[in-house]
Amino acid sequence: MRLLILGGTGDAAELAAKVATIQGLEAITSLAGRTREPSVPLGGLRVGGFGGAAGLTSYLRVMQIDLLIDATHPFATQISFNAADAATEVGVPRLMLIRPPWEKASGDRWIEVNSVEAAAASLENQAQRVFLTVGRQELAAFANCEKIWFLMRMIDPPSDDALVPAGMILCDRGPFTLNNERQILIHHKIDIIVSKNSGGDATKAKIIAARELGVNVVMVNRPAIPPGEQVTDVDNALEWLFDKLHD
Ligand code: NAP
Repeated sequence: MRLLILGGTGDAAELAAKVATIQGLEAITSLAGRTREPSVPLGGLRVGGFGGAAGLTSYLRVMQIDLLIDATHPFATQISFNAADAATEVGVPRLMLIRPPWEKASGDRWIEVNSVEAAAASLENQAQRVFLTVGRQELAAFANCEKIWFLMRMIDPPSDDALVPAGMILCDRGPFTLNNERQILIHHKIDIIVSKNSGGDATKAKIIAARELGVNVVMVNRPAIPPGEQVTDVDNALEWLFDKLHD
């Protein structure tokens, strides 16, 4: 059987590594191609967009894909809706592997918003030095926050013509330790963190460091995802796969 994993997350890479050991199952991971030097998953790999839902539909047919696991980031919703449409069209069973969101805990000072644009608007008159962790593609939303200094963390630097707010770029890739995140908040005198509610452990330390140091967090809530079967971890995704293999 042939499995397509829509990737770009640590969970997708872990799933690909575990699936590589299952006999009778060939997996292909698909990456969007946004990161210059992505961690290469085990098993088959393809890189780049499919050309919308129609392109993905024809890929599923041409490659004779039997099963699809959408393990993309919770904020990558376009590809998830395309996957839902394409899998329905071709009749391929589809599972979403989506880690649970972070829950607000005692001591957290979260301002919850529903979009990156709302996060930018919420900063006005509240923040002076912001740790911006929403990724390279969302920087433009903050470009008009003129009175604020931003420490912007991302994997690859933005292109020369990208609209970027004033501040400093820090290129780094998680997982990040609690000590690392504490040092950043203290050293750069950060008064607000802006984060997507990505969930998972790799980038959670900044939330804990903010709690400890009494730093506010503007937390962007998750967008809606398509309906369909969901699991929250790799082991449950493997169980779903075994069920399908033995159907
Ligand atoms: P998106 O808005 O949902 O997708 C935009 C387009 O990118 C899709 O329509 C598709 O192009 C292509 N695409 C996205 N994921 C793909 C994949 N795994 N394989 C092939 N094509 C893909 O996605 P995004 O928010 O730009 O995220 C891009 C990738 O980065 C995702 O794979 C995601 O897992 C990863 N990522 C995203 C975030 C985030 O905050 N959004 C954070 C960490 C990692 P076509 O229409 O041409 O097929």
